[in-house]
Amino acid sequence: MTDISGFLKIKRKEAGNRPLNERIGDHSEVEQVLNSEDRMLQAARCMDCGTPYCHWGCPVDNLIPEWNDLLYKGDWKGAYLRLAATNNFPEFTGRICPAPCEHACVLNIIQEPVTIRENEVAIVEKAFTEGYIKPEPPKTRTGKSVAVIGSGPAGMAAADLLNKAGHLVTLFEKDEKAGGLLRFGIPDFKLSKATVDRRLDLMIKEGVIIRTGINIGKDITGKEILEQFDAICIAIGATHPRDLVAGGRELNGIHFAMDFLSLQNRVNSGHIPVSASNINAEGKKVLVIGGGDTGSDCVGTSTRQKAVSITQIEIMPKPPLRRSDNNPWPYFGKILKTSTSHEEGCERYWNLATVKFLGTDNHVTGVEVEDVVWNPINDKYTMLVVRDTRRIIDADLVLLAMGFVHPALEGLLSELELELDQRKNIKVDQTQLTNRQKVFAAGDSVSGATLVVNAIASGRKVAKEIDKFLRKA
Ligand SMILES: Cc1cc2nc3c(=O)[nH]c(=O)nc-3n(C[C@H](O)[C@H](O)[C@H](O)COP(=O)(O)OP(=O)(O)OC[C@H]3O[C@@H](n4cnc5c(N)ncnc54)[C@H](O)[C@@H]3O)c2cc1C
Ligand code: SF4
Repeated sequence: MTDISGFLKIKRKEAGNRPLNERIGDHSEVEQVLNSEDRMLQAARCMDCGTPYCHWGCPVDNLIPEWNDLLYKGDWKGAYLRLAATNNFPEFTGRICPAPCEHACVLNIIQEPVTIRENEVAIVEKAFTEGYIKPEPPKTRTGKSVAVIGSGPAGMAAADLLNKAGHLVTLFEKDEKAGGLLRFGIPDFKLSKATVDRRLDLMIKEGVIIRTGINIGKDITGKEILEQFDAICIAIGATHPRDLVAGGRELNGIHFAMDFLSLQNRVNSGHIPVSASNINAEGKKVLVIGGGDTGSDCVGTSTRQKAVSITQIEIMPKPPLRRSDNNPWPYFGKILKTSTSHEEGCERYWNLATVKFLGTDNHVTGVEVEDVVWNPINDKYTMLVVRDTRRIIDADLVLLAMGFVHPALEGLLSELELELDQRKNIKVDQTQLTNRQKVFAAGDSVSGATLVVNAIASGRKVAKEIDKFLRKA
């Protein structure tokens, strides 16, 4: 048991971020690391509350009070083993999870929650440096083979567990390197790619075969894969971006967020030279349309590229600073989020709809916007335009960050004639099986765009179902 009165004596202490002026000059991780002694004290704030809602809030069911207790006592290895029991990649979630566990932490009712996410990353990083994490290939092989298509966190988690279960796993990826959005979506300043490579290297040493630069459904047909493998797991993500239908959309200088972000990630890792990066914010007035995390990542990347000004607009209302009555603890608090990228400098506006894009010489010069309000009508929020509020925001680079609608439907999904749900995601049953024999699916391609921790949870679930299926076959 942790120090049950620890929370009364010790205040929440976060590792904090690198100084703003320093961090905007590079693309390295923003968050710092707390020393081991302070980290162990932070674990002492976990009060062994009896009904750990943090565990309920964590999509991979992390055994949070157990590893906090071990961490508090200085048993880093024990803490790591409890953490690894439920989470394949704590080094990813410990860096970039929005930590629903902390929103659900019982301490959060009366005080600041335990630093669960930071404790998680501290435990796994100690495990890497102390050598507790070593390649552990399975002792025996089952003779069954699995193709995992898509190497984001869902595909990686599925491949990792299926390999550990003794099946021979080939992880296919259409991009030049594995990792999915961990590599080409999420900026380095949130998650270093060395962290992704370190895990992939470990998986390779444990026996996972990774084949990159192969688009399944194009370079190799789905039917060939069906013939060659005993089971298939599709984890191709939800990559189809939501577009903005408005006059002037065809003007140059208007891009999807992912096209912009993936270029910077490729430049950082040396996959392409800076000169080949044809979408760049340097010296530009940037307008980011979409107020979510992807939009925030565009803000941080534009800052590092030395934009002249950055504005982020959102059509929905500004979230409250505190939980509203209909959003109580222990649910995820729908409150205003100010990211490190926002802190670095950006104007933010809410309740703003885009009317049209304006331009000269075929290039965008601004965006006409107008105020909207959201009125509850018959239990539904309806958007109403506020008259005579049209105005122009100057912009010569517009980034569309309004989310993703569904997986790419052309290629693999249409070739295999996979059934889709109403939102055009892959339809699966309770065992994650699609309408096709031995074809399972996981991650964002099933749920729609969500979070890394949900993708890992989905990858873990599909691996267990595929393992059951193969052992019966
Ligand atoms: C900019 C951005 C920032 C984000 N930030 C965060 C964050 O801070 N925290 C968080 O929790 N979540 C974040 N997310 C969400 C998170 O990244 C996703 O929910 C998660 O990566 C989904 O995992 P996945 O494995 O299902 O799919 P993906 O990560 O999308 O991986 C799918 C992979 O499949 C490959 N693929 C597709 N089709 C084929 C094919 N036919 N053949 C072979 N390979 C194929 C793709 O190239 C891709 O590599 C962010 C998302 C974006 C876009
Ligand atoms: S994975 Fe996310 S929700 Fe789970 S313990 Fe870690 S930070 Fe919390």
